[in-house]
Amino acid sequence: MAMSTGDPYQHTAYISIGSNMGNKLLNCQNGIAALPKSGKSVLKARSRFYKTEPVDYTDQDWFINAMVKIETSLDPFQLFNELKSIEQAAGRTCDIVRFGPRVLDLDIILYDDQVIETPQLTVPHPRMHERRFVLQPLCDMDPGVVHPVLKKEARQLLTPFNDDEQRIVPCSFDF
Ligand code: ADP
Ligand code: MG
Repeated sequence: MAMSTGDPYQHTAYISIGSNMGNKLLNCQNGIAALPKSGKSVLKARSRFYKTEPVDYTDQDWFINAMVKIETSLDPFQLFNELKSIEQAAGRTCDIVRFGPRVLDLDIILYDDQVIETPQLTVPHPRMHERRFVLQPLCDMDPGVVHPVLKKEARQLLTPFNDDEQRIVPCSFDF
């Protein structure tokens, strides 16, 4: 009888977590805790938590952001659907303003070195290289991870940002 000896969690993905409504930290922590509950993913690493200045739509409260590295047997679209259902379970409803306030935002930043461009899902995340609140947490875990389209390491993508743009502050409890 053939037996599988392979690792069932074959794929590596980086998931960005954010919240700027209610108990932001708890929302993020609950979002992270929900990821392995399907039994299809395991948590491998977490960045620090950061307080971050809103970027695209600035008339809203600061966010808490973090990132996790997971290993998963879900394909990118299954993973995306799972993230959407975790967001909904956290109480996220239809957004009134694009990039506006949200209880929980879970985005796929990288999935192995796959490049995906569909109306629903773009991987690597289309704005990851413009967002300090994505790049800094990614560098906490894996500064050498390579963006498969731009062919640059996360640490190189982070270099252009000045300290006074897109301000991010590590949460003091999290050192
Ligand atoms: P954002 O996360 O960019 O601030 P939303 O969470 O409102 O904004 O997502 C808007 C849309 O982005 C989602 O409906 C989803 O279909 C699409 N999307 C495209 N690529 C991704 C990705 N890699 N991860 C998560 N959502 C994505
Ligand atoms: Mg999102």
